[in-house]
Amino acid sequence: MNVYDSARMADLMAPLGYTLTEEPADADMAILNTCHIREKASEKTFSELGRLRNLRTAKKSRDEGDMVIAVAGCVAQAEGAEIMKRAPFVDMVFGPQSYHQLPQMVAEAARGVGHILETEFPLEPKFDHLPDEAIDTNLSAFLTVQEGCDKFCAFCVVPYTRGAEFSRPAAAVIAEAKRMIAGGAREITLLGQNVNAYHGEGADRKSVSLARLIHDLAELDGLDRLRYTTSHPLEMTEDLCLAHRDVDILMPYLHLPVQAGSDRILEAMNRRHTAADYRRIIDKLRGYRPDLALSGDFIVGFPGETDQDFEDTLALVRAVGYAQAYSFKYSPRPGTPAAGLDGQMVTEPVKSERLARLQTLLNEQQLAYNQSFVGREIDVLLEREGKRDGQLVGRSPYMQSVFVPSPAHRIGRIATVIVQEGNANSLRGELKPGSVADAA
Ligand code: SAH
Ligand code: SF4
Repeated sequence: MNVYDSARMADLMAPLGYTLTEEPADADMAILNTCHIREKASEKTFSELGRLRNLRTAKKSRDEGDMVIAVAGCVAQAEGAEIMKRAPFVDMVFGPQSYHQLPQMVAEAARGVGHILETEFPLEPKFDHLPDEAIDTNLSAFLTVQEGCDKFCAFCVVPYTRGAEFSRPAAAVIAEAKRMIAGGAREITLLGQNVNAYHGEGADRKSVSLARLIHDLAELDGLDRLRYTTSHPLEMTEDLCLAHRDVDILMPYLHLPVQAGSDRILEAMNRRHTAADYRRIIDKLRGYRPDLALSGDFIVGFPGETDQDFEDTLALVRAVGYAQAYSFKYSPRPGTPAAGLDGQMVTEPVKSERLARLQTLLNEQQLAYNQSFVGREIDVLLEREGKRDGQLVGRSPYMQSVFVPSPAHRIGRIATVIVQEGNANSLRGELKPGSVADAA
């Protein structure tokens, strides 16, 4: 979502004459868009700010003018005052729900009003103030349809930093998708912290579900692939599960975090479902779409997690079988209920050991999954040049990165690839002869 937000900030700055630079050292303005989800992500903000300060000093000493430094995103939201204190050279700090005010803030900064801190949650949704022109002309584009969260998992800062759940009206989403397609997008990923809780307003003022929105988007000419992320198990409604069977362009890949396999821990996390509930949802989805690739998020070392609880997580992973997954050590976040469970903290070495065991299992599953593709033919959206000369990389329907030898002019095509090699993090193969027409 920060990638999407950053693109919108660039849209907002374009009328003021700003363009994106590949070279931070030359920037007249640097916006650091931050993440607060775990301590590690949050701490990075301060080291990156130090780097930006050095670039600014160097730019000034080259007599190339000043560099405005801004901090955006969820660290700005949660620790705005702290940033101003620890990094007083920062000119502007604003949260994820106020970046539409960027042009005013830049004008104020130019008038020399001093430091600007903007971390309110304005009553009008920022989407009403964002310009239309989507500069995201990536072949695979992100489109935010929902933001915020009302679920309040005990470990998570999102409800505090992104605010309450909000869904954009369906018409606004469809209009934006059309602009993205006109700009060259062939694949769109619908984004939300709880994207399947989407309930945007429809034409008749009735609420539109994510499944309905997916059906409507699938009608758009020129769109070949749809995805959505991130979902909560409680919101996997029947119509959404059925969309995986009925909508051709909805790709057979689902990121459905479960966090833990122990019911005791799931309850302490306030996830409001059991491990068996989760498995029932997966079984249903696989009934509708047998080749569905699954991904998940896991937290190890939540306060009070015992060896047995952790074994339950491993057992769930074995039972489900993931195509890929993300796993993290629990990180106490300021202001969240779990951060108050001091007495039950799992020690760092135990967390490390559990994470290593979990990741070993997940990596084995991922490798076996990728190897099961050897000899098969899959469709790949060729997105960009790979690291090696004469090589392109794209995604399979199942989200795997696929490398193929191919001339660059095929970027943007969907080609059939014969898979020759399945590695831990990617596939290698070659284009099926005749599967993609060469440009004249
Ligand atoms: N809305 C999604 C997740 C959004 S946060 C959901 O409910 O599943 C992305 C992931 O970061 C989470 O799934 C969780 O695995 C991880 N995460 C969030 N807070 C964390 C914390 N305090 N410590 C470690 N991992 C955390
Ligand atoms: Fe955080 Fe997701 Fe839970 Fe919301 S549902 S509180 S975003 S982990």
